[in-house]
Amino acid sequence: MKCTRCKSTAVVALPSHHAGFCPDCFLQFFSRQVERGIHSQQLFTNGDRILVALSGGKDSLALALELKLQGYDVSGLHVDLAIPISSVSARAAVEAFCGQHGIPLLVRDMAAEGLPIPLVKKRVKRPICSVCGKIKRHFFNRAALEHGFTVLATGHNLDDEVARLFSNVLRWDVAYLSDQGPGLPAETGFARKVKPLWRLSEFETANYAFLRGIEHHIAPCPYSPGATFTAYKGLWTDLEARMPGRKLDFYQGFLKNGRPIFNRVEEESGERLAPCRSCGCPTSAETCGVCRIKDMLAQPEA
Ligand SMILES: [Zn+2]
Ligand SMILES: [Zn+2]
Repeated sequence: MKCTRCKSTAVVALPSHHAGFCPDCFLQFFSRQVERGIHSQQLFTNGDRILVALSGGKDSLALALELKLQGYDVSGLHVDLAIPISSVSARAAVEAFCGQHGIPLLVRDMAAEGLPIPLVKKRVKRPICSVCGKIKRHFFNRAALEHGFTVLATGHNLDDEVARLFSNVLRWDVAYLSDQGPGLPAETGFARKVKPLWRLSEFETANYAFLRGIEHHIAPCPYSPGATFTAYKGLWTDLEARMPGRKLDFYQGFLKNGRPIFNRVEEESGERLAPCRSCGCPTSAETCGVCRIKDMLAQPEA
């Protein structure tokens, strides 16, 4: 197979784009997709200070590197979950990456915050992945606001977004459908949130990370089988193989025709948020969910 652009030997085949690329042309293709994703959704500009949430996985590191190469003002944030072995390796990958590429890094340590995830898992009787996700989003948002960043970016790719959208559609979850998308504007107490890799698949991001020599953290979270999302991703991989391009069409169709409608419905029933008594983050209760977990963990076990 020959490269669609320069006719040298192609190394990455992309049926959904009816194309195949050599390494250099693939990296250019990737950059253009990120640029299109940013500009078409007006995610941010060169004047923004961007904080990228770095888990240590390939997607978030690829995102930080690509934005930096495109000349954006990029810093990293890592939330150390204090999970034995896995968190040590994730943090080391992030620190090495940021050192290598000259990217300033903030770290929030959940053990120091009184919220080590193994203890949270033991004491909170809810699925750990949703609680852990809530804690991470809480600290991402706080760090962005405290340090004056205008944008908080995450490495979610097209496969993540389509699996989430599909899951929200299966449940007809109006609240989630109303604000799912590559960009969420800032509100009182919330930083603007963006997902600049939304046009790129997991396969494309993995190829980018490989070709750029990014050394990422590989071990999956020991608590997260992620079974539901993996099943949805499998369905979409099959569909995409039969109908190349369907994934991006489904997602873009939702952004254009679906989200505005859910947004309107949700605004009409919008609940009031007030600052958490303890940390100041917006919440519908007096104390936010994360501070409630923290308080509970500080109590002796019943
Ligand atoms: Zn080429
Ligand atoms: Zn709070």
